[in-house]
Amino acid sequence: MHSTRTDLSAKLYEEARHIIPGGVNSPVRAFGGVSGTPVFIRRAEGAYLFDVNDKKYVDYVGSWGPMIMGHAHPEVVRAVTFAAEKGLSFGAPTEIEIRLAEKIRQHMPSLEQMRMVSSGTEATMTAIRLARGYTKRNKIIKFAGCYHGHVDALLVQAGSGVLTLGVPGSAGVPEAVVQDTLVADFNDLNSVVSLFEKYGNEIAAIIVEPIAGNMNCVLPQVGFLQGLRDVCDRYQSLLIFDEVMTGFRVASGGAQALFNIKPDLTTLGKIIGGGLPVGACGGSQEIMQHLAPVGNVYQAGTLSGNPVAMAAGLATLTLTEQSGFYETLEKTTKKLVSGLAEIARASQIPFQITSMGGMFGFFFLEKLPQKLSEVKQSDVKTFQQFFHAMLDRGIYFAPSAFEAGFVSAAHTDTEIQKTLDAAEEVFKKVLQPPK
Ligand code: PLP
Repeated sequence: MHSTRTDLSAKLYEEARHIIPGGVNSPVRAFGGVSGTPVFIRRAEGAYLFDVNDKKYVDYVGSWGPMIMGHAHPEVVRAVTFAAEKGLSFGAPTEIEIRLAEKIRQHMPSLEQMRMVSSGTEATMTAIRLARGYTKRNKIIKFAGCYHGHVDALLVQAGSGVLTLGVPGSAGVPEAVVQDTLVADFNDLNSVVSLFEKYGNEIAAIIVEPIAGNMNCVLPQVGFLQGLRDVCDRYQSLLIFDEVMTGFRVASGGAQALFNIKPDLTTLGKIIGGGLPVGACGGSQEIMQHLAPVGNVYQAGTLSGNPVAMAAGLATLTLTEQSGFYETLEKTTKKLVSGLAEIARASQIPFQITSMGGMFGFFFLEKLPQKLSEVKQSDVKTFQQFFHAMLDRGIYFAPSAFEAGFVSAAHTDTEIQKTLDAAEEVFKKVLQPPK
């Protein structure tokens, strides 16, 4: 089905497996969802990755989202170098933490205050603890297929790697830790309302990916997010938008600006660190004041607000402020999406594709899915064939049928055309239409 790598990547993978579990430091990288051997990367530039054999790929993973400016953007690299030369970490406050926070707030005003952390996982963990501390309630609602990092309480029917590996949850998460996690269906308000009818006054918060990027790319139906806002208001629960993926990806103001919904808390990550480890949790001053050292909800981090990471984030966000930035990004993405849709239509292979801003998702399915049970119907076998055939042709999509794809500002018509030419060949010569 796919070429087994007998090259340097295969050799390194073998070596890695002896010292790192599964040879990788994050599960989906292992290619378990597509089988075969992961490609080891040596360097990246603009829209391209270069593997250890110097093979070049058009990259649609973008480090799983952060690289919105493309790889090694000179201005981001310059900002990082400048910061690094002044010292890597102080464990004391710095001015650049204020500047990045201000920049985020300028674009996402619902984050009146925010706390910087080092990953998306820490951001959602903080949001949940804060919501529970603030409301003095324990239960939370999440959605099947949404992924919020590997926080114990949120590893229930999670998307992303958990879905890719086809495991129900994670061992090592005690029942007691998830007994207050309630699961509803994405795009199904009734499933949320019935949980509120049963547990209303015990529910601290709903946490949701406003665009579900961890079951590939499932858009919210009209009224779904507003319905969540309304039910939270009715029961005085908090609405948490996990915009780790969608923040500065679908619009400068994130999904909350696109859909005009004000969440109580927002979690960010990925792009706000420009490729270095940064996350953030923010919301109204009134709620955020419950965090230590002002309030009694404890949260901390040795490297939180790291000056080098802040510099990468600030340079990246500043670059996204160029006029027409998101319009161009969306146009490029749409070119890819409509091109792929057209190629698929001609082939009669069931294929659905959708996008928002600079993120997209495709499914080998007859109908665009609206929730996890529908996403799971995807023809994973055809996806695997497509993935490997495209990889062989120098196009690097996420190695999982359940992960979103990302376009960067460095992707131009040249890269999109190269991708479409490869896809045309793959749809015609490699994939088999159903009999
Ligand atoms: N939330 C969402 C929506 C994500 O997509 C992710 C990671 O992909 C996370 C949280 C966790 O972020 P991190 O991997 O930085 O811990």
